[in-house]
Amino acid sequence: MERDVIVLGAGAAGLMAGIEAARRGRRVLVIDHAAAPGEKIRISGGGRCNFTNRHIAPERFLSQNPRFALSALKRYTQADFIARVDRAGIAWHEKTLGQLFCDGSARQIVDMLVRDLAQAGGELWLGTTLGAVRPGFEVETGRGTLRAPSVIVATGGKSIPKMGATGYGYQVAEGFGLPVIPPRPGLVPLTFTDGRLASMAALAGLSVPARVGVEGARITFDEGLLFTHRGLSGPSILQISSYWHEGRALVIDLAPGRDIGAELALARDDRGGREVANALDLPERLARLVVAEAGVSGRLAAQGKPALARLGDAVHRWQVVPAGSEGWRTAEVTLGGVDTTALDSRTMMARAVPGLFFVGEVVDVTGWLGGYNFQWAWSSGWAAGQVA
Ligand SMILES: Cc1cc2nc3c(=O)[nH]c(=O)nc-3n(C[C@H](O)[C@H](O)[C@H](O)COP(=O)(O)OP(=O)(O)OC[C@H]3O[C@@H](n4cnc5c(N)ncnc54)[C@H](O)[C@@H]3O)c2cc1C
Repeated sequence: MERDVIVLGAGAAGLMAGIEAARRGRRVLVIDHAAAPGEKIRISGGGRCNFTNRHIAPERFLSQNPRFALSALKRYTQADFIARVDRAGIAWHEKTLGQLFCDGSARQIVDMLVRDLAQAGGELWLGTTLGAVRPGFEVETGRGTLRAPSVIVATGGKSIPKMGATGYGYQVAEGFGLPVIPPRPGLVPLTFTDGRLASMAALAGLSVPARVGVEGARITFDEGLLFTHRGLSGPSILQISSYWHEGRALVIDLAPGRDIGAELALARDDRGGREVANALDLPERLARLVVAEAGVSGRLAAQGKPALARLGDAVHRWQVVPAGSEGWRTAEVTLGGVDTTALDSRTMMARAVPGLFFVGEVVDVTGWLGGYNFQWAWSSGWAAGQVA
């Protein structure tokens, strides 16, 4: 069986690449082992798909080569995808931080892509296993051996194996001698053990605004932080998890924009009879944690300058070292992947293997939380679709 372009994976990037190649008149076949296409799109953004972000910029993506993503992101922008969504009549709205969501179901995005692929003449094979990819190219599938001069690998990363994620794309890359940056979970809750977890146990379920950074990195995120039964989650933690490495401390400001030390010094003058924890204008469970961390007890009036400074530190520079992360089971994305040095940033084609392309999450480009990862999938898929 011959085609012009075989796309491996019918997720966000694969569907986009397939549509674009088919619109150029190429005979395109998109293959996926799942029973339905675009499953991650369907469940994304709480079922409403945060399909892009108004503030796409290369520094909001992690990669060994942060400049790599620039070309594709510039050639097919968030405005281009928004225009596509508008043409399809899909209503959307902006949430915080430039994040764009469907008003209705994320299924509308999947339906739009599948419809566009069919209208352009592309074929879609679901429930089809993939085997070896050999030079030439020959692709082994559950429905026989296929031949095509172009193969686009769009099988995503390793996040959420229950949804069909595999390391397949990395194997294909390595089979052709292309380097792969070891994949690791990103946008993932962080976990704690032993005494540290016990000290936070009473806070499970509490959500607070926070500014979260990590030792050794300059970046911080000002978003919600959620205490869980196993550790920390919420958008600020998911974001910083992509920058966190084992053994490093998180540096957390639990009251960003405030000066707790100064607030307490003022309160000491007119409300000094209160217990320190009650004098802190924080949720009570959090106030108790902070007081314990600072090793302070008793009434506010009894606290000297050093104690107030320790309380200020405990709130504004709370340092905790996670034991690990929730891992692939819940990670929203995969860091690492096919090394961008092996790829042409304009086309996503492997420099050493003409006709072989890698797009989307399988590539070592990982976005922040907030629509950045889909935009990478759209932009990189589009880029490959122009030439494959
Ligand atoms: C719960 C969750 C919510 C998310 N929400 C958002 C969001 O709101 N906004 C955002 O920007 N990003 C979000 N993401 C991230 C986003 O879903 C991914 O970055 C994006 O889907 C990557 O697109 P992709 O096409 O590269 O890979 P995928 O969408 O993962 O598609 C890969 C496809 O390849 C198929 N496949 C894999 N291995 C094989 C194999 N061996 N044989 C055959 N087929 C195979 C899979 O079945 C899948 O259909 C979310 C992720 C998760 C897990």
